[in-house]
Amino acid sequence: MCTLLVLFAWFGSGNDGWTWATASRVPVTSILTTTAPGRRNPPVGSAAPIESGEDVTVTKRLGVMGGTFDPIHHGHLVTAEEALCQFALDEVVFVPTGRPWMKTEREVTPAEDRYLMTVIATSSNPRFSVSRIEVDRPGPTYTVDTLEQIRVEAKGPVELFFVTGADAMLEIFHWKDPEEVLARAHLIAATRPGYDLTRFETEAPTAHPNVSVMHIPALAISSTDIRRRVEEGEPIRYLVPEGVQTYIEKASLYRRPA
Ligand code: ATP
Ligand code: MG
Repeated sequence: MCTLLVLFAWFGSGNDGWTWATASRVPVTSILTTTAPGRRNPPVGSAAPIESGEDVTVTKRLGVMGGTFDPIHHGHLVTAEEALCQFALDEVVFVPTGRPWMKTEREVTPAEDRYLMTVIATSSNPRFSVSRIEVDRPGPTYTVDTLEQIRVEAKGPVELFFVTGADAMLEIFHWKDPEEVLARAHLIAATRPGYDLTRFETEAPTAHPNVSVMHIPALAISSTDIRRRVEEGEPIRYLVPEGVQTYIEKASLYRRPA
């Protein structure tokens, strides 16, 4: 159960009594768990009073879902949707990596193909979008730079939530400047089948107020397995969105070299 219908009110100056301000569907878990410090505005659904004359500009809660997406699959989409729901996010922007410097052991599919598959996979969800930030940036890309650029491009108050699997999140703490990432965004580490969460819990700074573990429905899907399946002629239907499967076929991706 992720949502709760909340009615809340304020006692505004000039009003003769309680004014019903709004009715909002908010996630129970967000009220309980999203306590990132430095928040200037109340979270979506907060019952904090609004003073007369106060700037009521609402800070956008923006999820940033990073990944190679080679190809994007339903595990990624479920993760982003759960983050939207559990953390009361307004939107999630998917950021396909440009040239991932951590995946040097294999040749990564051209960024343009991975970007297009991500656009296809997310197009039916009005709260999902895809950014070209890393695709268009030459050279290796770093999460901290991406978060900074997203903040600048948001052109308004924004609170960032970097969403990624617990496996990949642990890597962040081996990257350069993990403290800088933590200063820029709340980090949401999603559970993933086959990944032992106790490793994350012992090695990652889970006590940090900007780090959360997010439990999601288990989908044992990986891009590695999808690439292998295509290469070996096994089905990928229902593992990826239909349009992504069609794109893979049309662009002859992941086929065994002739
Ligand atoms: P690869 O096998 O090539 O590494 P992947 O399936 O891990 O691909 P990535 O693009 O590396 O996909 O993943 C982007 C993010 O999504 C990572 O943080 C990863 O942990 C997370 N993720 C991928 N698949 C799942 C899944 N099935 N459930 C939860 N999180 C996932
Ligand atoms: Mg991966």
